Amino acid sequence: SLTEKLTGALRNLRGTGTLSEANMADALKEVRAALLSADVHFKVARDFIDRVQEQCVGQSVLKSVSPGQQVVKIIHDELVKLLGEGATELAAKRPLKVLMVGLHGSGKTTSTAKLGKLLKKKGARPFVVAGDVYRPAAIDQLEILAKQEELGFYCDRASKDVPGIGAKALESALAQNADVILFDTAGRLQIDHDLIEEVKKLKAAVQPDEVILVADGALGQEAVNVAKAFHDALTLTGLILTKLDGDTRGGAALSIKSVTGVPIKFIGTGEKTENFEIFHPDRLASRILGMGDVVSLVEKAQETIDQKEAERMAEKMRKADFNLEDFLAQMQQVKKMGSMQSILGMMPGMSGVQLPGDADRQMKRTEAIIQSMTVQERRKPSLLNGNRRIRIAKGAGVQVVEVNQLMKQFDQMQKMMKMMKGGNQKKLMRQMEQ
Ligand code: GDP
Ligand code: MG
Repeated sequence: SLTEKLTGALRNLRGTGTLSEANMADALKEVRAALLSADVHFKVARDFIDRVQEQCVGQSVLKSVSPGQQVVKIIHDELVKLLGEGATELAAKRPLKVLMVGLHGSGKTTSTAKLGKLLKKKGARPFVVAGDVYRPAAIDQLEILAKQEELGFYCDRASKDVPGIGAKALESALAQNADVILFDTAGRLQIDHDLIEEVKKLKAAVQPDEVILVADGALGQEAVNVAKAFHDALTLTGLILTKLDGDTRGGAALSIKSVTGVPIKFIGTGEKTENFEIFHPDRLASRILGMGDVVSLVEKAQETIDQKEAERMAEKMRKADFNLEDFLAQMQQVKKMGSMQSILGMMPGMSGVQLPGDADRQMKRTEAIIQSMTVQERRKPSLLNGNRRIRIAKGAGVQVVEVNQLMKQFDQMQKMMKMMKGGNQKKLMRQMEQ
């Protein structure tokens, strides 16, 4: 998947303390390849890399504390720009008429109901119209969903006159005091003249405020072509990208906005009516990079962590002469950033991990243990024999096993640092993946 490829490309960048123009160029090449293989349009990918490169050179990335993270943040921010900045909602006008168009099977009917549900939750009085008159099953499908979500509903099983149905449906909806009217329409397996003509006539009859294309996000580059064709014919106001659950992580989303200029407004993330979200470019960008909300993390770190202190620590880690005193100082820096759970939530691959409720309490205990040690012991943990550990446990008000656990953790950490120092990155990665 795109996420896996990008994560791979960026892994080296994230890990390295030092970053040269050469390995940055290599990483960006890989990022470009990952974008292309995820069906991102080649021009979009090329411009993207150009912009990222420009910024990496322009900013003092190479001199910063964590250059890899900085590059990742630049890539992330450019992804957000590509996806369209800020969440774009439907027009606020009431009554609001929305035409839902798209190919067969893209998720129009499902999305119509999902959108109705979402708007209803926000206090609207949505009304859905069955405009797919060729298949009785399609009308049934919408009717069932409308009942389930308690939405207003209109259909005419006896007519095939779509514009006529649209006009009558509108009348009925307004008479019932609906304030958002969603018109579901028929699709074809591919874009064809008849389909477009019929939708155009319906559009003329109901004069919609929004024309929303429902596109299958799993289609990749093909979804971009579909969007272009529909936009040319109908002047879209927004997109719903469906099926962004499972493995598809938005390769199409990346080029669809920059190729068509039409904003993605919602995404479908599953078959159920609740699997539907307002589109947030920053969240998808993070998901694509497989990094949780690293951006906020970097920003927060920049705000709270003393730059000089961080450099001193990084240097110590590189030399692998990191002792318990440093560990304590580090922990106190981290604590300034917020609770452990909130920090973890922003880390790559960790956003789903639930810390035990007492993670912060645990940190306080660790702090207490280290504080109960003498300065000498903190600097030279090998001094900590059984007697000393018992004394420390008493002083900190914890069990000896907890002291032992901490020492074990610290020991592992030191081993990792030695590996980093030795440049044994492969072994380190294996260790970390376990
Ligand atoms: P339409 O022909 O455009 O009206 O498409 P439908 O709404 O009937 O959806 C076609 C199929 O795609 C159905 O089986 C839906 O359950 C499924 N579907 C729609 N949206 C999503 C989505 O976001 N995720 C997943 N996994 N399936 C979806
Ligand atoms: Mg349908």
